[in-house]
Amino acid sequence: PLLRIRMGLAIVPQGPYPYGGDYQPSQGVRRDVLDEVEVRQMLIEHVGHRCCWGSRPARTWKITSIKDCCDVYVGTLETFIEQRDTIFEREPYHGGEVDGRDKGPVLGVWELDLRSEFPPLFVPEKEVRFKIPHSEFTEKCSDCEGRGKVPCPTCNPGRQYGFYMANQMTQCSVCDGRGSLAQQDESDKVCWMCNGQGVLPCTECGSRGLVTCRTCNGCGSLLTQSIARVRWETLTARKVSATAETATVPDEVFHRAQGVQLCNIQAYQCTPAFFADSYPLNQLSSEVVASRLPVPPSAIVISERHIISVVPVTRVTMSHRKRSFIFYVVGYGRDVFVRNYPSRFCWGLCRCFEWLGN
Ligand SMILES: [Zn+2]
Ligand SMILES: [Zn+2]
Ligand SMILES: [Zn+2]
Repeated sequence: PLLRIRMGLAIVPQGPYPYGGDYQPSQGVRRDVLDEVEVRQMLIEHVGHRCCWGSRPARTWKITSIKDCCDVYVGTLETFIEQRDTIFEREPYHGGEVDGRDKGPVLGVWELDLRSEFPPLFVPEKEVRFKIPHSEFTEKCSDCEGRGKVPCPTCNPGRQYGFYMANQMTQCSVCDGRGSLAQQDESDKVCWMCNGQGVLPCTECGSRGLVTCRTCNGCGSLLTQSIARVRWETLTARKVSATAETATVPDEVFHRAQGVQLCNIQAYQCTPAFFADSYPLNQLSSEVVASRLPVPPSAIVISERHIISVVPVTRVTMSHRKRSFIFYVVGYGRDVFVRNYPSRFCWGLCRCFEWLGN
């Protein structure tokens, strides 16, 4: 392990460190030295969280090797962006004050002062919406042409306002239009449903022929206002410098792992970091910066942050007779990743395979 500690110390990146991160050149990249008892305990705990994994191999198989792999380097480029657009909201206008253009200028969506809403840099996402001052205006409801009522869709379907018909009745289905019902003694009785009329009024409009316009809720006019929708978001490009030993471990494991930062550069637009004595790190940094995610046309970039971290990895082999399996202890948080655990009883139907959810 000491080899890696020295290697970590030797890597002194150049460039400014406005945010420094955890990295200080004087602090060694300390590596935990794990013993058999510890790694077995970690594995037992990991297996215990998976309902369908038997604990027997973890408890009883022999640990045949504990090997510190080459450190894995993880690079990220975060692009923190802001997007703004305008949406329109309409509601029935019941009268009263309108905050319109006559009250003051209407600012464009990018002219609004949002300093009080601004989130910390590099939050995953935040969205706010608010009314743009003086953007209100009223207009006649086009669905009812300002009348507040429209022909009833049940008894006057498809008719224009000027051509609706009131008193449209339907035949009573209880008495079939006769108005009376035959009784057992063969006398007639007035139909309880239509009250002897034989017809029934429209249930939706009471056969008035008109119903309240749903668009304006009967007001005849609508109030429209502009809403500013502002969204901050961090787009993250990631890369892992996998080695042959760790190539089967998914990248996500390393991205989640706790490592030590070797560089943490923040700028409007990051350029690759320069490590004086490490060609692979320079290459990783260049690749990460080159894989910057595309910024949508309606967005502006506020800042970028480029981090390269080193994550220690230990590989443990366990064997029993002629069978064996491998697991990894990743990062300072000691995350466990098991590649081919021998005692799984599920076949993909339960959540066991979602190791990411952990
Ligand atoms: Zn209307
Ligand atoms: Zn009707
Ligand atoms: Zn009837």
